[in-house]
Amino acid sequence: MKVLLDEKQLLAGVRKLAQQIDEHYQGQPLTVVAVMTGSVILFADLIRMLSMPVRVGVIQASSYHGEKTAGKLAVDTKMLLDVKDRDVLLVDDIFDTGRTLDGLIQTVQQLGASSVRSAMLLHKQRTHDVPVRPDFVAFEIPDEFVVGYGLDYHDMYRNLPYIAILDDEEIAAGENAAILQTLPTDSST
Ligand code: 5GP
Ligand code: MG
Ligand code: MG
Repeated sequence: MKVLLDEKQLLAGVRKLAQQIDEHYQGQPLTVVAVMTGSVILFADLIRMLSMPVRVGVIQASSYHGEKTAGKLAVDTKMLLDVKDRDVLLVDDIFDTGRTLDGLIQTVQQLGASSVRSAMLLHKQRTHDVPVRPDFVAFEIPDEFVVGYGLDYHDMYRNLPYIAILDDEEIAAGENAAILQTLPTDSST
């Protein structure tokens, strides 16, 4: 595991992100929505640094990677608060292909939000699949698989206080553990 962003760097980046958001909204009330689950740590840190009156909500997005589908997005709004006629800021961990943000913006717009913007901790330097881009970004990072500070690999590593790039061995170990979990348990005894 190689640390890409340590605790001090993350804190400074989140502070700058909050400043960008404050400057943009100028005290205007905001409905801030956490995209579950990767944004939980960022969200807790970020909302405590914002200066405007804030309403807080959550939304869930997950993509399913089938054998032929390149990640179909499922959005769950069951836990989302009312966003009609509100200025909404979506907060997420990372902008990679961009498909998640694209789908979430459409969902929130359909629910009648007056504006929808987005804040991302990380922005991967790669070719994105959609024209939409995040409005506020803390860090540009290389096209590597990262974990920590909310980001997971098979639901592990979210609690790391830093962002790290996983080694090939760690990726393989996680893959094996995930396969083991899906094997049927021995009930013969
Ligand atoms: P998208 O490709 O739609 O922009 O990103 C979808 C989701 O994939 C992100 O919200 C994040 O949960 C996950 N993801 C993309 N890149 C990485 C990465 O490098 N590390 C981890 N842990 N998750 C990632
Ligand atoms: Mg995510
Ligand atoms: Mg994940």
